[in-house]
Amino acid sequence: MKINLVTAKTVLIKTGLPGADYVVNPYNGCLFGCMYCYAAQIARWRHPHEVWGTYLDVKINAPVLLKKELENLHKRLKTKNFGAVFFSSVTDPYVGMEVKYRLTRQCLSVLADFGYAGNVSIQTKSPLVTQDIDVLQRLKDVNVGLTVTSLNDRVSRFLEVKAPPISARLEALKTLHRKGINTYAFIGPILPHILSNLESLNQLLDKLEAVGVREIWFEHLHLNPATKARLYRFLKHQAPELIPEFERSDTAVYRAQLEQVIRRALAGRRLKMGLGKVIHHRDLPKKK
Ligand code: SF4
Repeated sequence: MKINLVTAKTVLIKTGLPGADYVVNPYNGCLFGCMYCYAAQIARWRHPHEVWGTYLDVKINAPVLLKKELENLHKRLKTKNFGAVFFSSVTDPYVGMEVKYRLTRQCLSVLADFGYAGNVSIQTKSPLVTQDIDVLQRLKDVNVGLTVTSLNDRVSRFLEVKAPPISARLEALKTLHRKGINTYAFIGPILPHILSNLESLNQLLDKLEAVGVREIWFEHLHLNPATKARLYRFLKHQAPELIPEFERSDTAVYRAQLEQVIRRALAGRRLKMGLGKVIHHRDLPKKK
Protein backbone atom coordinates (compact mmCIF):
# COMPACT_ATOMS: atom_id res chain seq x y z
CA MET A 1 0.00 0.00 0.00
CA LYS A 2 1.45 3.35 -1.02
CA ILE A 3 0.25 6.57 0.58
CA ASN A 4 1.34 9.76 -1.20
CA LEU A 5 0.90 13.16 0.38
CA VAL A 6 0.15 15.54 -2.46
CA THR A 7 -0.75 19.20 -2.88
CA ALA A 8 -3.80 19.69 -5.09
CA LYS A 9 -4.18 22.66 -7.42
CA THR A 10 -7.97 22.64 -7.21
CA VAL A 11 -10.52 20.66 -5.20
CA LEU A 12 -13.97 22.01 -6.04
CA ILE A 13 -14.35 20.74 -9.57
CA LYS A 14 -17.24 21.17 -12.02
CA THR A 15 -18.83 17.85 -12.97
CA GLY A 16 -21.30 16.37 -15.40
CA LEU A 17 -22.29 13.60 -12.98
CA PRO A 18 -26.06 13.25 -12.60
CA GLY A 19 -27.49 15.20 -9.69
CA ALA A 20 -24.23 17.08 -9.03
CA ASP A 21 -22.65 20.36 -10.11
CA TYR A 22 -19.31 20.04 -8.34
CA VAL A 23 -17.27 17.15 -7.00
CA VAL A 24 -14.81 17.16 -4.12
CA ASN A 25 -12.24 14.36 -4.02
CA PRO A 26 -10.13 14.76 -0.86
CA TYR A 27 -8.21 11.67 -2.00
CA ASN A 28 -7.30 10.21 -5.34
CA GLY A 29 -7.33 6.43 -5.55
CA CYS A 30 -9.21 4.09 -3.26
CA LEU A 31 -7.90 1.38 -0.99
CA PHE A 32 -11.21 -0.52 -1.05
CA GLY A 33 -10.16 -1.89 -4.44
CA CYS A 34 -13.57 -2.96 -5.77
CA MET A 35 -13.14 -5.26 -8.74
CA TYR A 36 -15.80 -3.47 -10.81
CA CYS A 37 -14.61 0.08 -10.05
CA TYR A 38 -14.49 2.33 -13.09
CA ALA A 39 -12.92 5.17 -11.08
CA ALA A 40 -9.84 2.95 -11.46
CA GLN A 41 -9.84 3.82 -15.13
CA ILE A 42 -10.46 7.55 -14.54
CA ALA A 43 -7.75 7.90 -11.90
CA ARG A 44 -5.27 5.72 -13.82
CA TRP A 45 -3.53 8.52 -15.73
CA ARG A 46 -1.89 9.67 -12.52
CA HIS A 47 -0.73 6.17 -11.66
CA PRO A 48 -0.42 4.27 -14.93
CA HIS A 49 1.81 1.55 -13.48
CA GLU A 50 0.18 1.00 -10.10
CA VAL A 51 -2.52 -1.50 -9.23
CA TRP A 52 -5.89 -0.01 -8.28
CA GLY A 53 -6.53 -0.46 -4.58
CA THR A 54 -2.84 -0.29 -3.63
CA TYR A 55 -2.25 3.46 -3.63
CA LEU A 56 -3.86 6.60 -2.28
CA ASP A 57 -3.03 10.23 -2.94
CA VAL A 58 -3.87 12.29 0.13
CA LYS A 59 -4.61 15.90 -0.84
CA ILE A 60 -3.29 17.47 2.31
CA ASN A 61 -4.27 21.00 1.31
CA ALA A 62 -7.87 20.07 0.33
CA PRO A 63 -9.65 21.89 3.22
CA VAL A 64 -7.60 25.09 2.86
CA LEU A 65 -8.07 25.04 -0.90
CA LEU A 66 -11.79 24.39 -0.60
CA LYS A 67 -12.21 27.40 1.69
CA LYS A 68 -10.38 29.61 -0.79
CA GLU A 69 -12.36 28.30 -3.75
CA LEU A 70 -15.69 28.78 -1.96
CA GLU A 71 -14.76 32.36 -1.09
CA ASN A 72 -13.69 33.10 -4.66
CA LEU A 73 -16.92 31.70 -6.10
CA HIS A 74 -18.91 33.63 -3.54
CA LYS A 75 -17.22 36.88 -4.57
CA ARG A 76 -17.91 36.15 -8.22
CA LEU A 77 -21.46 34.74 -8.01
CA LYS A 78 -22.74 36.66 -4.95
CA THR A 79 -24.42 33.55 -3.58
CA LYS A 80 -23.60 30.74 -1.17
CA ASN A 81 -25.30 28.18 -3.34
CA PHE A 82 -23.33 27.09 -6.39
CA GLY A 83 -25.34 23.92 -6.87
CA ALA A 84 -25.01 20.37 -5.57
CA VAL A 85 -21.60 19.34 -4.25
CA PHE A 86 -20.81 15.63 -4.38
CA PHE A 87 -18.22 13.68 -2.37
CA SER A 88 -16.61 11.90 -4.29
CA SER A 89 -16.10 10.70 -7.86
CA VAL A 90 -12.65 9.07 -7.97
CA THR A 91 -12.29 7.83 -4.41
CA ASP A 92 -14.38 6.84 -1.42
CA PRO A 93 -14.43 9.88 0.90
CA TYR A 94 -14.36 7.53 3.92
CA VAL A 95 -11.56 5.27 2.81
CA GLY A 96 -9.71 3.99 5.93
CA MET A 97 -6.99 6.69 5.82
CA GLU A 98 -9.71 9.23 6.63
CA VAL A 99 -9.24 8.11 10.26
CA LYS A 100 -5.74 9.54 10.13
CA TYR A 101 -6.05 12.54 7.81
CA ARG A 102 -9.66 13.64 8.39
CA LEU A 103 -9.74 15.47 5.06
CA THR A 104 -13.38 14.68 4.30
CA ARG A 105 -14.40 15.80 7.77
CA GLN A 106 -12.39 19.00 7.42
CA CYS A 107 -13.85 19.73 3.96
CA LEU A 108 -17.38 19.21 5.30
CA SER A 109 -16.57 21.54 8.22
CA VAL A 110 -15.34 24.16 5.74
CA LEU A 111 -18.67 23.93 3.89
CA ALA A 112 -20.62 24.18 7.15
CA ASP A 113 -18.55 27.13 8.45
CA PHE A 114 -18.98 28.89 5.10
CA GLY A 115 -22.75 28.45 5.44
CA TYR A 116 -23.00 26.60 2.16
CA ALA A 117 -26.64 26.85 1.10
CA GLY A 118 -26.68 24.23 -1.65
CA ASN A 119 -27.00 20.49 -1.39
CA VAL A 120 -24.05 18.44 -0.19
CA SER A 121 -24.21 14.78 -1.04
CA ILE A 122 -21.87 12.07 0.18
CA GLN A 123 -21.59 8.56 -1.14
CA THR A 124 -19.52 5.93 0.60
CA LYS A 125 -19.20 2.26 1.45
CA SER A 126 -17.95 3.00 4.93
CA PRO A 127 -19.68 3.38 8.30
CA LEU A 128 -16.90 5.86 9.18
CA VAL A 129 -19.28 8.52 7.88
CA THR A 130 -21.27 8.17 11.11
CA GLN A 131 -18.34 9.70 13.03
CA ASP A 132 -19.07 12.97 11.25
CA ILE A 133 -22.75 13.22 12.14
CA ASP A 134 -22.00 16.33 14.21
CA VAL A 135 -20.60 18.08 11.13
CA LEU A 136 -23.32 16.74 8.84
CA GLN A 137 -25.93 18.19 11.18
CA ARG A 138 -24.39 21.64 10.70
CA LEU A 139 -24.93 21.57 6.93
CA LYS A 140 -28.07 23.19 5.58
CA ASP A 141 -28.94 20.51 3.02
CA VAL A 142 -27.17 17.19 3.13
CA ASN A 143 -27.80 13.62 2.18
CA VAL A 144 -25.65 10.58 2.69
CA GLY A 145 -25.75 7.51 0.50
CA LEU A 146 -24.31 4.11 1.26
CA THR A 147 -23.58 1.80 -1.63
CA VAL A 148 -25.36 -1.50 -1.13
CA THR A 149 -24.98 -4.04 -3.91
CA SER A 150 -26.28 -7.16 -2.15
CA LEU A 151 -27.35 -8.34 1.28
CA ASN A 152 -24.59 -10.86 1.43
CA ASP A 153 -21.33 -9.95 3.20
CA ARG A 154 -19.59 -12.73 1.27
CA VAL A 155 -20.59 -11.18 -2.05
CA SER A 156 -19.34 -7.78 -0.93
CA ARG A 157 -16.08 -9.22 0.43
CA PHE A 158 -15.55 -11.08 -2.84
CA LEU A 159 -16.01 -8.14 -5.24
CA GLU A 160 -15.58 -5.08 -2.98
CA VAL A 161 -12.38 -6.55 -1.70
CA LYS A 162 -11.42 -4.30 1.20
CA ALA A 163 -14.61 -2.28 1.63
CA PRO A 164 -16.55 -2.59 4.91
CA PRO A 165 -19.17 -5.35 4.75
CA ILE A 166 -22.76 -4.68 3.68
CA SER A 167 -24.05 -5.36 7.20
CA ALA A 168 -21.94 -2.47 8.53
CA ARG A 169 -23.24 -0.17 5.77
CA LEU A 170 -26.85 -1.00 6.65
CA GLU A 171 -26.12 -0.21 10.30
CA ALA A 172 -24.63 3.11 9.21
CA LEU A 173 -27.78 3.94 7.24
CA LYS A 174 -29.87 3.17 10.31
CA THR A 175 -27.71 5.36 12.57
CA LEU A 176 -27.75 8.29 10.15
CA HIS A 177 -31.51 8.06 9.77
CA ARG A 178 -31.99 8.01 13.54
CA LYS A 179 -29.86 11.14 13.82
CA GLY A 180 -32.05 12.98 11.34
CA ILE A 181 -29.69 12.84 8.34
CA ASN A 182 -31.34 12.27 4.94
CA THR A 183 -30.10 9.01 3.53
CA TYR A 184 -30.23 7.16 0.27
CA ALA A 185 -28.93 3.84 -0.96
CA PHE A 186 -26.94 3.42 -4.12
CA ILE A 187 -27.46 0.03 -5.75
CA GLY A 188 -24.71 0.13 -8.29
CA PRO A 189 -23.42 -1.53 -10.14
CA ILE A 190 -26.43 -3.81 -10.18
CA LEU A 191 -24.74 -7.19 -9.96
CA PRO A 192 -25.87 -10.05 -12.22
CA HIS A 193 -27.67 -11.99 -9.48
CA ILE A 194 -30.38 -9.30 -9.19
CA LEU A 195 -32.20 -10.08 -12.44
CA SER A 196 -32.02 -13.82 -12.02
CA ASN A 197 -33.48 -13.47 -8.55
CA LEU A 198 -36.28 -10.93 -8.08
CA GLU A 199 -36.63 -12.22 -4.53
CA SER A 200 -33.15 -11.00 -3.65
CA LEU A 201 -33.99 -7.52 -4.99
CA ASN A 202 -37.18 -7.46 -2.92
CA GLN A 203 -35.29 -8.56 0.18
CA LEU A 204 -32.75 -5.83 -0.42
CA LEU A 205 -35.48 -3.18 -0.80
CA ASP A 206 -37.26 -4.47 2.33
CA LYS A 207 -34.06 -4.16 4.29
CA LEU A 208 -33.32 -0.66 2.99
CA GLU A 209 -36.82 0.50 3.89
CA ALA A 210 -36.40 -0.98 7.36
CA VAL A 211 -33.28 1.14 7.97
CA GLY A 212 -35.08 4.32 6.96
CA VAL A 213 -34.06 4.68 3.32
CA ARG A 214 -36.64 6.47 1.16
CA GLU A 215 -34.58 7.06 -1.96
CA ILE A 216 -32.66 4.58 -4.03
CA TRP A 217 -30.30 5.19 -6.92
CA PHE A 218 -29.72 2.36 -9.35
CA GLU A 219 -26.86 2.04 -11.78
CA HIS A 220 -26.29 -0.56 -14.46
CA LEU A 221 -23.07 -2.46 -14.60
CA HIS A 222 -20.61 -0.60 -16.79
CA LEU A 223 -17.58 -2.47 -18.01
CA ASN A 224 -15.17 -0.26 -19.90
CA PRO A 225 -12.28 -2.20 -21.49
CA ALA A 226 -9.86 -1.63 -18.59
CA THR A 227 -12.44 -2.48 -15.91
CA LYS A 228 -13.51 -5.57 -17.79
CA ALA A 229 -9.92 -6.79 -18.21
CA ARG A 230 -9.22 -6.36 -14.51
CA LEU A 231 -12.50 -7.95 -13.37
CA TYR A 232 -12.26 -10.91 -15.73
CA ARG A 233 -8.61 -11.55 -14.80
CA PHE A 234 -9.79 -11.82 -11.21
CA LEU A 235 -12.87 -13.95 -12.00
CA LYS A 236 -10.87 -16.30 -14.21
CA HIS A 237 -8.99 -17.43 -11.10
CA GLN A 238 -11.70 -17.06 -8.49
CA ALA A 239 -15.05 -17.87 -10.15
CA PRO A 240 -14.84 -18.40 -13.93
CA GLU A 241 -18.50 -19.45 -14.06
CA LEU A 242 -19.46 -15.83 -13.35
CA ILE A 243 -17.82 -14.41 -16.48
CA PRO A 244 -20.75 -15.27 -18.82
CA GLU A 245 -23.12 -13.76 -16.22
CA PHE A 246 -21.22 -10.47 -16.25
CA GLU A 247 -20.94 -10.58 -20.03
CA ARG A 248 -24.71 -10.99 -20.36
CA SER A 249 -25.33 -8.18 -17.84
CA ASP A 250 -23.58 -5.60 -19.98
CA THR A 251 -26.02 -5.74 -22.91
CA ALA A 252 -28.95 -3.52 -23.93
CA VAL A 253 -31.40 -6.46 -23.83
CA TYR A 254 -30.41 -7.32 -20.30
CA ARG A 255 -30.64 -3.69 -19.17
CA ALA A 256 -34.18 -3.38 -20.56
CA GLN A 257 -35.29 -6.57 -18.74
CA LEU A 258 -33.62 -5.45 -15.55
CA GLU A 259 -35.34 -2.08 -15.59
CA GLN A 260 -38.71 -3.83 -15.82
CA VAL A 261 -37.83 -6.02 -12.85
CA ILE A 262 -36.74 -2.98 -10.83
CA ARG A 263 -39.96 -1.10 -11.58
CA ARG A 264 -41.98 -4.17 -10.58
CA ALA A 265 -40.08 -4.44 -7.31
CA LEU A 266 -40.56 -0.73 -6.57
CA ALA A 267 -44.30 -0.75 -7.30
CA GLY A 268 -46.33 -0.15 -4.15
CA ARG A 269 -43.31 0.89 -2.08
CA ARG A 270 -42.69 4.36 -0.66
CA LEU A 271 -39.33 4.51 -2.34
CA LYS A 272 -38.23 7.22 -4.75
CA MET A 273 -35.94 6.24 -7.57
CA GLY A 274 -33.00 8.68 -7.90
CA LEU A 275 -33.30 10.64 -11.18
CA GLY A 276 -36.42 8.55 -11.92
CA LYS A 277 -34.36 6.11 -13.96
CA VAL A 278 -31.63 3.52 -13.80
CA ILE A 279 -28.33 5.27 -14.54
CA HIS A 280 -26.11 3.91 -17.25
CA HIS A 281 -22.59 5.31 -17.16
CA ARG A 282 -22.19 5.29 -20.94
CA ASP A 283 -25.03 7.83 -21.21
CA LEU A 284 -23.34 10.31 -18.88
CA PRO A 285 -21.50 13.41 -20.11
CA LYS A 286 -17.77 12.78 -20.46
CA LYS A 287 -16.60 14.77 -17.45
CA LYS A 288 -14.98 13.82 -14.17
S1 SF4 B 1 -15.36 2.19 -2.99
FE1 SF4 B 1 -15.96 3.23 -4.88
S2 SF4 B 1 -14.11 4.34 -5.52
FE2 SF4 B 1 -13.48 2.82 -4.02
S3 SF4 B 1 -12.82 1.05 -5.22
FE3 SF4 B 1 -14.98 0.76 -4.63
S4 SF4 B 1 -16.19 1.55 -6.35
FE4 SF4 B 1 -14.08 2.36 -6.55
